[in-house]
Amino acid sequence: MMDARGSIDLHAHTTASDGSYAPTRLVDLAERIGLAAVAVTDHDTVEGVAEAVARAATLDVEVIPGIEISAKHSGPGVLHILGYFIDVGDSDLLGQLEWVQNSRRERNPRMIARLNELDIEITLAEVESIAGDGQVGRPHMARALVERGVVATVREAFDRYLTAGGPAYVEKEKLAATSAVELIRRGGGVAVLAHPVQLGLGDGDELAELVEHAAEIGFGGIECSYPAHTEAQTDRYQDLAAMHDLVATGGSDFHGESKPDIALGDVRNGRGVSVDVISQLRERCSRIHTA
Ligand code: AMP
Ligand code: FE
Ligand code: FE
Ligand code: ZN
Repeated sequence: MMDARGSIDLHAHTTASDGSYAPTRLVDLAERIGLAAVAVTDHDTVEGVAEAVARAATLDVEVIPGIEISAKHSGPGVLHILGYFIDVGDSDLLGQLEWVQNSRRERNPRMIARLNELDIEITLAEVESIAGDGQVGRPHMARALVERGVVATVREAFDRYLTAGGPAYVEKEKLAATSAVELIRRGGGVAVLAHPVQLGLGDGDELAELVEHAAEIGFGGIECSYPAHTEAQTDRYQDLAAMHDLVATGGSDFHGESKPDIALGDVRNGRGVSVDVISQLRERCSRIHTA
């Protein structure tokens, strides 16, 4: 286990979405490895934040309330938007998220039906039981397929059935990037472009154009340090951040056993992200809200 003393991790999932650690357990792990702060960034929900904040109050670690919203993207990859320092009680925010969550609820039985059509025995009930109290997503379907012995690993479940364009895949409705950013900003937060490598745009002009547009529509940062980024990519994303006055952040995208090769706090080859990034992000929030 790495010693992350004094560093931070701005990207972690809990059982509120598709992580395997409950919020309390995540915060306990963060404290144990010596993180100064961890952001709880579940997919399209803030349900895990309150429990994590309550736990952190008894420990020497800070919890940053966050979210990760999937947005519409015309490129070949995915556009995920992280939001930090949002007010998790904001009724506007919760109302819009409900729309996103309903779109997931509508999609789940359709994906199960597709799997059944492929002669795979799997029920929504067993997938829901794997998800527990959290919202249901593809990783829970993947775990059900592993439990059933249909595939050997979660990865194989995605590769063969669940990946975008795969035989069991059903698209879910997504917010436009502008709406997601507005939502985060209205909720008092700052929006950060998650894992740019996953946009599928490469590291050249297409990416540069997207980042320029992101800065125009109100993004405050880019997740430059990320386990799947090479050193060259991290440098490139940091350059783009500097060019557009965006905060260079970083996070591991910890999911617990759902992504067993990713360790909490291990953002960049055994290194974490500096605690200074928190004050830079806070400064963006106050800039937005006094503007
Ligand atoms: P969903 O939000 O239900 O569409 O599921 C997307 C989630 O599935 C992502 O956030 C990842 O956590 C996970 N995921 C996507 N692709 C893969 C993959 N190839 N292997 C493992 N997990 C994946
Ligand atoms: Fe995930
Ligand atoms: Fe993501
Ligand atoms: Zn994530």
